[in-house]
Amino acid sequence: MARGFAKRRHPEVRSPSRALPGETPLGARRNKPVSRLEHLLFCRVGQAIGDHGLIEPEDRILVAISGGKDSFSLLHLLDLHRRRAPFEFSLLPVFVDAGWDEGAGERVTAEFSRHGYTVEVFRRDIRGCVRDHLRPGTNPCALCSRLRRGVLYDLAPARGCNKLALGHHLDDLIETLLLNLFYSGQLKAMGINLLSDDRRNRVIRPLCYIEEEALRAFAAAADFHAVEIACPYRDGSRDPRREAVKHWIAALARDIPDLRRSALAALKHVRPTHLLDRALFSRRSPGPQDGL
Ligand code: SF4
Repeated sequence: MARGFAKRRHPEVRSPSRALPGETPLGARRNKPVSRLEHLLFCRVGQAIGDHGLIEPEDRILVAISGGKDSFSLLHLLDLHRRRAPFEFSLLPVFVDAGWDEGAGERVTAEFSRHGYTVEVFRRDIRGCVRDHLRPGTNPCALCSRLRRGVLYDLAPARGCNKLALGHHLDDLIETLLLNLFYSGQLKAMGINLLSDDRRNRVIRPLCYIEEEALRAFAAAADFHAVEIACPYRDGSRDPRREAVKHWIAALARDIPDLRRSALAALKHVRPTHLLDRALFSRRSPGPQDGL
């Protein structure tokens, strides 16, 4: 998709009920943001779409729904863009019921339907797989997430989708950057528009420019009630390193209010010549602009 998606003006506001043939019309009642916060988030998603070419004409995007605030915001903001975009693309919201909690699928569909969205539920016995394959010392959540991601990777092409949208936000990117920096010896955050490991799906992260706190505020203002999944591992199995990084960021942000925006700016302004990766060095010779 061409850069400038977010900057484009749309003189014509299209019918809110527009849907592609054979599809359930998505979304609630309106086709433009109504609050300042919603407008800000709408613009940030538009910037991400434009900067990274996330959406192209005729895309059919599977939107991963977890039942929480992030996936609700993702679906809502993408649907607003769908209604105002100068070309057609479609969204398929999907919840993978992993079998931890009887009735989770019904609760998710009910809550999203209260906001005007139809979510498809796919039941897979991830709970059984985790129990069968969990080895001592392994984090069940890491295994569960990997298995759910695998289900989504299978579902997307099976349901005719060429892209998979995930609800990772700016805080996720910064945490992953620091985790990789301090624990994995790599300088990387998360791909915003990249081919999945199995090379069958293009994974996009349209919330990459939005802080988690803004999503929390937006979901609360929209009266969205996050659906809690009752899982025996819920409280005890969080990754302690990720929890520690979250804690550091929160503590630092009290002294550095612009910490997250600065981290985002840093991710957008990488100076390869000031890093030590020889593979980067060998691609170009230093120029006068490189400085010290
Ligand atoms: S808390 Fe339960 S449902 Fe959530 S990732 Fe962990 S194992 Fe999966």
